[in-house]
Amino acid sequence: MLVLNSGSSSVKYQLLDMGDGARLATGLIERIGERTSLVRHVPLAAGGGSRERTGRIPDHEAALKAMAEELAEDGLGLDSPDLAAIGHRVVHGGLRFTEPTLIDDAVCAEIERLIPVAPLHNPANLTGIRTARALRPDLPQVAVFDTAFHTTMPEAAARYAIDVRTADEHRVRRYGFHGTSHAYVSRETAHLLGKAPEEVNVIVLHLGNGASASAVRGGKCVDTSMGLTPLEGLVMGTRSGDMDPAVIFHLMRVGGMSADEIDTLLNKRSGLVGLCGDNDMREIRRRVDEGDEEAKLAFDLYIHRLKKYIGAYCAVLGRVDAVAFTAGVGENSAPVREAAVQGLEGLGLALDGARNAARGDAPRLISPEGARVAVAVVPTDEEREIATQTYALVGKNN
Ligand code: AMP
Repeated sequence: MLVLNSGSSSVKYQLLDMGDGARLATGLIERIGERTSLVRHVPLAAGGGSRERTGRIPDHEAALKAMAEELAEDGLGLDSPDLAAIGHRVVHGGLRFTEPTLIDDAVCAEIERLIPVAPLHNPANLTGIRTARALRPDLPQVAVFDTAFHTTMPEAAARYAIDVRTADEHRVRRYGFHGTSHAYVSRETAHLLGKAPEEVNVIVLHLGNGASASAVRGGKCVDTSMGLTPLEGLVMGTRSGDMDPAVIFHLMRVGGMSADEIDTLLNKRSGLVGLCGDNDMREIRRRVDEGDEEAKLAFDLYIHRLKKYIGAYCAVLGRVDAVAFTAGVGENSAPVREAAVQGLEGLGLALDGARNAARGDAPRLISPEGARVAVAVVPTDEEREIATQTYALVGKNN
């Protein structure tokens, strides 16, 4: 199973053996269309270290061909008879795509129709799909949508309190993102507790450069922090998260800024970067430890927002069995986990200091033995989840 995650100037890929679950190869092609592009390929099955090369890769077609050459070098080329299907990450599936979907021309057209609500992501995802279909038209290809897991949200969580007709006319509602990760992590958390996903209520905190929280009741998402776009919710690396929408009118009327300028401000120059100039949590922690006040404000604001969402989702769920930290910051930053949970004993949340400080790649509990709410670190694996969903769908259709 080949998994493709196509961005506007990058393609990430992973090849998995669904027989034993082994990861055979991974790779990243960056700076597509720029003067010097970079191909980094890790031939996991073939052993040996990663291979890197630079050179100009003008477009996605050239990128997928470069990927195919790298895979072929390990004897796992795109023309291999063992390749059963390709799974594509697609960011926005709107309301139409609630499940992984076998790609045909009509599905491509629908993904294209959703471009106005996902102008940054869907065009790139679609380019990846069209290129891969042109290279292997005979192979089943499946779209796995970031929004799909959140389509179970009740209307009260999915709607904004604005005029219903205007909202419907422009498809304005809360779609949520990172759904593949929330689905995988909530299920893995249930397994860590020795329970079925249907039996547990979990708060998932996906804290990467983009960050989102979700409330998952019995395996189904009932609320999530991102909205119409990934801008809503938590403080992120470069995005503001929640804010009074009137800030935008104020910046237009008083600050003389255009809609595009404010879009860039809120998506690229806000969040941790806007507050202190850094978006890497390691660097921010280092600065906080040195007494840097800007970094401390950024860290404190990040944690304050995170706590608000933990509290809100405890209220949404009523009963919480587990809180799971995942993605770059959630998996690696013990100080963030400690600060986020501190003072929440009243909600049943506590950490075991030694467990929180220990490192590891496997899902693990970091709450004390017998805690009312389990707190866990559960590494996310979106590629594996896309492969699993693709495999399940292709298997069903064969
Ligand atoms: P992701 O988007 O999931 O790849 O997460 C990327 C972010 O994870 C980076 O911007 C860092 O802020 C954070 N990160 C990665 N490694 C560490 C670490 N060891 N400690 C703290 N933060 C980390």
